[in-house]
Amino acid sequence: MTNKLTRRTLLAGGASILASALVAGNVRAGVSPKKEETRDTSIKTRTASCNCGQLTVTHVGPDPERISLCHCYLCQKQSGSAFSIQARFPKEELTIKGKSSTWKFPGDKPVSYRTCADQGGTYHFCPECASTVYYTADTDDARIGIRIGTFTDPSFPSPKITGFEEYHHPWVMNIKALGMKVLA
Ligand SMILES: [Zn+2]
Ligand SMILES: [Zn+2]
Repeated sequence: MTNKLTRRTLLAGGASILASALVAGNVRAGVSPKKEETRDTSIKTRTASCNCGQLTVTHVGPDPERISLCHCYLCQKQSGSAFSIQARFPKEELTIKGKSSTWKFPGDKPVSYRTCADQGGTYHFCPECASTVYYTADTDDARIGIRIGTFTDPSFPSPKITGFEEYHHPWVMNIKALGMKVLA
């Protein structure tokens, strides 16, 4: 009996390893795994903050539904990086502390490219250290967007949406293939 159970457990373990290998293979081949990662709805507390720490947003609630990666030029300029990552949270789950300055888009001057804020957005950044921590979209009164980097939390769930890929740096979506040297 014990042997049978052990054998079954080993078989189950083997099947699991095989499944993992298949998923990993799909990822390497650039094919999305069929099974979607399910959202963790347990209640967590996470705090986003600017670099100097005076502007914070604390979220108490489940993982957000909308987590996106954006390649638009507005996001590239604002983040200073090749893309931005952000999530939207229900307002009632957030506590904002500290002072922020705001920048509204679109401004007076039209831009020649499409952006994720074409329908209007207001960005809140720290007047001391200039980190953009959160924003509101004119078309989404119920939620506030937070730049994921301001959580400095590598366990934060990965993006589920990617947008404005016509502006993307071509290496971005396959960063492992670059074979970069790792800095100590
Ligand atoms: Zn600051
Ligand atoms: Zn964008």
